[in-house]
Amino acid sequence: MSKRRINQQQSGRIKQIQAKRRVDDVANMHETMYGTVIAHYGKYTDVKSDQKTFHCKLRQNLGDLVVGDEVVFHLQQQKEAVITAIEPRKTKLWRLDERGQEKLIAANVTQVFVVMAPVPEPSWLLLDSYLAAIYHLNLTAAVIFNKNDLAAQSYAEYWQLYNDLNIPILKTSVVLKEGLAELSQAMQNQRSVFVGQSGVGKSSLIQALLPHENLTVGDLHEATGLGTHTTSTARLYQLPNGAVLIDSPGVRDFNLWPMSSLDLAQAFVEFKPYLGSCKFRNCTHTHEPSCALQSAFTQGKIALSRWHNYHALLERFKE
Ligand code: GDP
Ligand code: ZN
Repeated sequence: MSKRRINQQQSGRIKQIQAKRRVDDVANMHETMYGTVIAHYGKYTDVKSDQKTFHCKLRQNLGDLVVGDEVVFHLQQQKEAVITAIEPRKTKLWRLDERGQEKLIAANVTQVFVVMAPVPEPSWLLLDSYLAAIYHLNLTAAVIFNKNDLAAQSYAEYWQLYNDLNIPILKTSVVLKEGLAELSQAMQNQRSVFVGQSGVGKSSLIQALLPHENLTVGDLHEATGLGTHTTSTARLYQLPNGAVLIDSPGVRDFNLWPMSSLDLAQAFVEFKPYLGSCKFRNCTHTHEPSCALQSAFTQGKIALSRWHNYHALLERFKE
């Protein structure tokens, strides 16, 4: 077979394919749809659009896709759907992977609830580290104080402190079913995630908010026969009131990444009025003379725990 002949054959085939694509594109024009990624496992992605779930494949070269992404997809024959575009992300929840690279966890989250409890005892350092991350991700922060039925101590000064920083505190008890209505109210019109140390009751809260979902076992996927709720995949849920919750172990464990003293100081919002007034422009507010923050602290304008936690986090970043 001559080269030329193969080329003719090939070009004929290419023309055919292109023509078919155009026909397909025209046919599909009416079926361009928009939806939200609610689960993503292997080659497949579930997209919710108008209360219906579509099982989609990804067009090649689309890049990474995560739960919470808003996508454009096209319905094709045999009810198969293909995702063809990802809308720009408004916010990104990410973590650092083992190589120190940003690893996307979820997209378009708007609100983070830091869950705390009387047991395990609250870590205010952990809370402040979450608040710093949430600040830099442009998300809204709120605290859930769960297991309120066990609270021997009320931690009133702390709640006052965080209230003054515009962080709402919701007290809940899964056992007594208290505060759950208020919580779902606070989740309305938001896309929320729950973070916090292990044992504070995140799974219990989520299960209480989504009584009809089996969060631990996970349903078998029709096509693959594999479980869809594995440890690594996040999932997006809708509450009866329309509020949206994104959950997975990866989401719950999300943590602060190392940042500069300037970025960290900015995230401590009550430091803001004093930033830029220190003697040294690059003051880290640790040991420098004529530090405006140090004097604000000495005058009682910055809480001791927050001042300590700022320094503790800065130390940790050096390690
Ligand atoms: P997670 O690790 O944050 O997901 O925490 P879990 O949801 O697994 O809860 C840890 C433990 O705390 C379990 O034994 C729960 O039954 C218990 N727990 C969760 N919420 C409450 C609560 O409101 N009150 C009490 N007393 N126990 C709770
Ligand atoms: Zn300073």
